[in-house]
Amino acid sequence: MKIIVLFGPPGAGKGTQSDKLIEKYGFAHISTGDIFRENLKNNTELGLLAKKYMDNGELVPDEVTIKMLQAEIKKYPLAKGVILDGFPRTVTQAEALDTILEQEKNSVNLVVQLDVNETELRQRIEERAKTSGRTDDEAATVERRMNEYFNKTIHVLPYYKAQNKILTVNGIGKIEDIFNQICDAIDNHS
Ligand code: AMP
Repeated sequence: MKIIVLFGPPGAGKGTQSDKLIEKYGFAHISTGDIFRENLKNNTELGLLAKKYMDNGELVPDEVTIKMLQAEIKKYPLAKGVILDGFPRTVTQAEALDTILEQEKNSVNLVVQLDVNETELRQRIEERAKTSGRTDDEAATVERRMNEYFNKTIHVLPYYKAQNKILTVNGIGKIEDIFNQICDAIDNHS
């Protein structure tokens, strides 16, 4: 089973590219943000717990997120591969992921970093806010999400750089061109 991490700040295009990748490769898609939103919609305990952090644009605590991810990965024992979208977002999560995968005699194959500058990210989220229905796409919350990314999530990059697993793709341009570069990375470097 291939484990591909799609990495990037909010608005980088992780969700868009994940949809295309699962269609092409038949991989399972694990988006921690989607799972939290689904739980919220269904009023589960996890959803209610996550809500106060999501509404504030903050990361849900590692302990909660890691436990959820571990359960989610177990659902796909026979999958050809898994796209991780929005996880890991802290070094603690990255370390936990390695431990979880080691237990299954597996490991992260490739981390695709979608590189998009901050001005473009803000424009994209502002545009998305018009239709997404996501309250965390509102300006003040976006600001906090960006801060979380630059304070906590960015440190995940050197963690995977040390393992030689990062492939950086320019996330600005045609969706199809970006997709082709990611496919090339998956086909030739994972
Ligand atoms: P996303 O849809 O990936 O932008 O995630 C939406 C929100 O869900 C984030 O702002 C966080 O509050 C929460 N979230 C998603 N993934 C994680 C994660 N790996 N760690 C902590 N919080 C997360």
